[in-house]
Amino acid sequence: MRDYKLVVLGAGGVGKSCLTVQFVQGEYLDTYDPTIEDSYRKSMEIDDKAFDLEILDTAGVAQFTAMRELYIKSGMGFLLVYSVTDRQSLGELMELREQILRIKDSKRVPMVLVGNKADLQQERVISVEEGIDVSSRWGKVPFYETSALLKSNVHEVFIDLVRQIMRVELES
Ligand code: GDP
Ligand code: MG
Repeated sequence: MRDYKLVVLGAGGVGKSCLTVQFVQGEYLDTYDPTIEDSYRKSMEIDDKAFDLEILDTAGVAQFTAMRELYIKSGMGFLLVYSVTDRQSLGELMELREQILRIKDSKRVPMVLVGNKADLQQERVISVEEGIDVSSRWGKVPFYETSALLKSNVHEVFIDLVRQIMRVELES
């Protein structure tokens, strides 16, 4: 059994908790509280291997920098989430990624760029192309648009992350 620690990061309100709960519990729970930080466990099989996933759904990017450093240290893979309806949330990911690379001191940190709330077409301010552009500037970090509401691409982002961690483990 592989024990993997995943960390969900991003600005408040982008949908980190909804994505995590949708993945772990298979339901869309809208109990928005940007201050709640929680950790979830999920056991599953991916590519015929058993995993015990521990998922930290973080809260607040600006606050608690020391704590952030702690969970970046212990995390093995990171979902960097923005909302396609919120330009600033994409901007905040730049600094987060820098911090992860600095703390991990590695160019090969398992990571996925996630543009959530893709169902809100009317309110979209960030195009798919822009997401792709950021991901290629980050060295082709896998990029997905998701909707926690419609359960679209939610499993895909977590499974991509687990596969990346597995690959990095095999190569080290
Ligand atoms: P967090 O602060 O990043 O954990 O954000 P939450 O998961 O609590 O979500 C913040 C708000 O965005 C909630 O009111 C959700 O209903 C809404 N939300 C989250 N994901 C989606 C989504 O995929 N589509 C839509 N339309 N709304 C979403
Ligand atoms: Mg939350």
